[in-house]
Amino acid sequence: MTTTVSQELLPTGQSLDAARVEGERAYALDRAHVFHSWSAQEQITPMTILASEGSYVWDGAGNRMLDFSSQLVNTNIGHQHPKVVAAIQDQAAKLCTIAPQYVNDARSEAARLIAERTPGDLNKVFFTNGGADANEHAVRMARLHTGRYKVLSRYRSYHGGTDTAINLTGDPRRWPNDYGNSGVVHFHGPFRYRSQFHSENEQQETERALEHLDQLIRLEGPNSIAAIVLESVPGTAGIMVPPPGYMAGVREICDRYGIVFIADEVMSGFGRTGKWFAIDHFGVVPDLITFAKGVNSGYVPLGGVAISEKIAATFADRPYPGGLTYSGHPLATAAAVATINAMEDERIVENAARIGSEILGPGLRGLADRHPSIGEVRGLGVFWAIELVADRATKEPLAPYGTSSPAMNEVIAACKAGGLLPFANFNRVHAVPPCTVTEAEAREGLAILDTVLDIADAHR
Ligand code: PLP
Repeated sequence: MTTTVSQELLPTGQSLDAARVEGERAYALDRAHVFHSWSAQEQITPMTILASEGSYVWDGAGNRMLDFSSQLVNTNIGHQHPKVVAAIQDQAAKLCTIAPQYVNDARSEAARLIAERTPGDLNKVFFTNGGADANEHAVRMARLHTGRYKVLSRYRSYHGGTDTAINLTGDPRRWPNDYGNSGVVHFHGPFRYRSQFHSENEQQETERALEHLDQLIRLEGPNSIAAIVLESVPGTAGIMVPPPGYMAGVREICDRYGIVFIADEVMSGFGRTGKWFAIDHFGVVPDLITFAKGVNSGYVPLGGVAISEKIAATFADRPYPGGLTYSGHPLATAAAVATINAMEDERIVENAARIGSEILGPGLRGLADRHPSIGEVRGLGVFWAIELVADRATKEPLAPYGTSSPAMNEVIAACKAGGLLPFANFNRVHAVPPCTVTEAEAREGLAILDTVLDIADAHR
């Protein structure tokens, strides 16, 4: 899919010089008029992207960069996949928009393809515009289903930027958004490297994390708790793969207390971990799965909630009090149909699993052998994080929790200068390329990281 372009042309065929001029104008207009997410507006210098293809993007100067971020971990199928682009074009020619109360073939087919891939009896799909509103609706469904109000979610999590979703979020982005009346209570999930439970092995971590959750529920009042919301593998917060038995234990706790189990698969779903859903690694069936990003690689905004028969039945004879003008938008769902079919036909989920187990996992562990600034390597599929530390013994992070640091800023800048677009957060660099990444591209990314990590080592 990825082609080499001459110095003069972008993959679109556009001349680089013309694209650069357009890019400069876009940058000036951006700085004048675009208000950016999560940013101090006068302190940012956003990168211009002129073009993209496969695992690469071209920056404002025309430099080709390996996209080891998949943007915000959403381009699972890579950039500009021709089948998805064509499906959007065909759908646009046929029917651009239709309200959610009408039946539409793209929406129906997308719902079927998603329901067939979710575990258990999650057979109904409610479509949203993205991940945050998927979590808003999942929580609303759980509250109406149980008649309870409180919701539990873990620290070190991200669930979105809207009102309930940011309150569910356990990372510092919640802090300025938290007015203390959301009904959300946070708990500690398992995280061996920085264990809250002083456990000595994974089994202890599982047991103690489950005991903590159970105790919290008993103290909060089981009859007041509607749902537990949990990323199957927490992504933005650091790709902490749950230890064996943890997710099954959460399922068991939910069953014991009549609590709805919501698995947030917005980042971990649709092939990212080498299976359709990360929860498939644990053999657990949640009551609701929220998804977005990889469902259509973000080519058109789309998210949703996959709903079990039990929860869906709550709304069989009683209206569900919620909706969105663009729920199941034809362009977005046509892109989802093409994405899922292409992932199946081209064995893209299998590719993610293989690249993870054969190239990225061993490659990153190899970097840890050479670079003492790496405290831990964790992940699976094309979903990896390296945690950078100033001191391996004390695990002092290279940037304190919730902040950046000059050292991390240098590391990120060096990645970009070396031709790699990273996904970085606090003291972590994530290696999260598209699920379509080739062996050669994965090795190219590892080689760039190898060079960059000398800088991190020097900050120890
Ligand atoms: N849930 C998880 C696990 C996410 O990673 C994200 C976004 O990164 C969201 C929810 C929010 O999705 P969106 O930005 O589409 O609203």
